[in-house]
Amino acid sequence: MAVRSKMLGKARARTKSEASRRTIGAKMAPRKKDATGILPEPVPATKTERFAKKIIALIYDFDGTLCPRPMQEYAFLPKIGENPEAFWAESNRIAREQGADPLITYMHLLYKKAKAKGVRIDRSDLVAQGAAVEFYPGVSEWFDATADYVRKNTTSQDVTLRHYLISSGLTEIVEGTPIYKKFHNVFASEYWFDAYDLPFPKQVITDTGKTQYLFRINKGIENLSDSINHHMPESDRPIPFSNMIYFGDGDTDVPSMAVVRKNGGRAIAVHGGDNIGRGRCRDLMRAGRCDFFADADYRVGSALFKRTCLLVDRMIADIRISEEMWALDN
Ligand SMILES: [Mg+2]
Repeated sequence: MAVRSKMLGKARARTKSEASRRTIGAKMAPRKKDATGILPEPVPATKTERFAKKIIALIYDFDGTLCPRPMQEYAFLPKIGENPEAFWAESNRIAREQGADPLITYMHLLYKKAKAKGVRIDRSDLVAQGAAVEFYPGVSEWFDATADYVRKNTTSQDVTLRHYLISSGLTEIVEGTPIYKKFHNVFASEYWFDAYDLPFPKQVITDTGKTQYLFRINKGIENLSDSINHHMPESDRPIPFSNMIYFGDGDTDVPSMAVVRKNGGRAIAVHGGDNIGRGRCRDLMRAGRCDFFADADYRVGSALFKRTCLLVDRMIADIRISEEMWALDN
């Protein structure tokens, strides 16, 4: 059963203990005092009770990848009578003038504009706005269809598929969409609603900041109150990058695509079928940012579905090989 964080700060708390259960490290050797009388930190054994790296993670950007437009354009901007082009131009101009991060600027400007128009939008209003988001064709069936594909092709290997979302958009709007429940975890920007007169940015996920969440997925440290910075040997990381496919639509995904691919994972760029989008994807592929690109058609049998399955087939084969090697060595 998928477990999702309703808020970033409440990401899955059980992940860490799950990870430790997977290793014999859970059975720590008795700790002996050193010459100073201080007990050294326990060092978990890296030998696992069974081959544990059997989770494939499909990780998505939201705006432009799963839906054609930024999520704020479906309900928030119309509700406050803002023209999207004018809004984003103003937000970017303020960011440049103030030397501010554009993500913080847009989150601030949304509510400043709403207040100026006398429109009150609280957390539940934002969640309700999620229902207005229009997705690319096939998105609603994609999550179960890809999971089915993995299940049917790995009956003897016990490989499972997870879907993750990493978005600079708003957690609250994502929460109101029908696909929210399909994600194992959602990492997105979020407001603090009762801190100030205007809702205040609580979590801001920038393009480069997205990569932190890739490492959280990689290390199994999805609870945001746990530090991601301590060293973890590759052998202890539950979802290797080589088991990841990242889906994005443009330059804002370059840091994530680069991190995933440089660590042995895969990336797919999608476009809305227009020449500009197709050209953008071709540029990403030529720059070595993605393995494939395709029209953002998520229906079973589409080019995107087939190319994703090709990469998944290879991952399943690699998992089988790694498991066989692991068995010889254990
Ligand atoms: Mg995007």
